[in-house]
Amino acid sequence: MRLVFLGPPGAGKGTQAKLVCEHYRIAHISTGDMLRERIARNTPTGQQARPYYERGELVPDSIMLDMVGERLGEPDCRAGFLLDGFPRTRAQAAALDGKLVAAKKSLTSVIMLVLGDEEVVRRLSGRRTCSNTDCQANYNIVSVPPKVEGKCDRCGSDLVQRNDDQPEAIRRRLDAYHRQTAEVVDYYRSKGLVREVPGTGSVEQIQQRIRDALDQR
Ligand code: AMP
Repeated sequence: MRLVFLGPPGAGKGTQAKLVCEHYRIAHISTGDMLRERIARNTPTGQQARPYYERGELVPDSIMLDMVGERLGEPDCRAGFLLDGFPRTRAQAAALDGKLVAAKKSLTSVIMLVLGDEEVVRRLSGRRTCSNTDCQANYNIVSVPPKVEGKCDRCGSDLVQRNDDQPEAIRRRLDAYHRQTAEVVDYYRSKGLVREVPGTGSVEQIQQRIRDALDQR
C-alpha cells in the first residue's frame, strides 16, 4: 500500500497517519519530522533547509526530492509507505510519480482529511503548550484540558498559547495550506486517486472511516 495523506493543520493528521501505518504495517514518512531531525543534527541537508524552515516557507523542491527519494529506497518502504507532508507542490507530485514509475510502482490512494476552516480555528485556538522548553506538553482547553487550569500536569509550569496558534496566525497557516494543497489535490483528482474522509468525530471513528476508504479500493 502506497499512500499520500493530506489534511489541514489541526485535523489530527499525525495521529491518524501513525495508526494507519501500524495497522497496515507500512512506513510512516513525515517530511516535517525528517527536516527537523536533519536541522537538529546540522547535516548538510539540514543546513540548506534551515532558513526556509525557520521562515515557515516551503523548502526547495530539489532538496525535498533528494531527501524523499533516498528515504523511499530504504528497505522498510518495500512493504508500502504513507507520505505525510509530501508532496506540497505539483512539481513534487509529478516527480514522485516519475520515481514510482521508474520503480514500476504507483500510488494506491490519496487520503484527504476534510475539516472546515471554522473547526480548524476552533481546535487550534484551544491548544495550550507548556512554557517549559524541556517539556513542551500539549493540551487543548476543549478536548484535552490540564488537571489544574493553566498549569502543566507533568511539570507544573505555566501553559501558554503559541504565537502561531493565535487566530490571525492560524488563518495565515490555513490560507497557505489551501493555496499549496489545491494544486496537489487537483493533480491527484485528475488521476482518480483522492478519497475524502470527514475529519470530525473521535479518533477511532475517523480511523475507521480511513480504513473503510482504503479497504474499499
Ligand atoms: P510540517 O511539520 O509538515 O508542517 O513541516 C514543517 C516545515 O517543513 C514546513 O513549514 C516547510 O518549511 C518544511 N516542509 C515539510 N514538508 C515539505 C515539503 N513537502 N516541501 C517543502 N517544504 C516542506
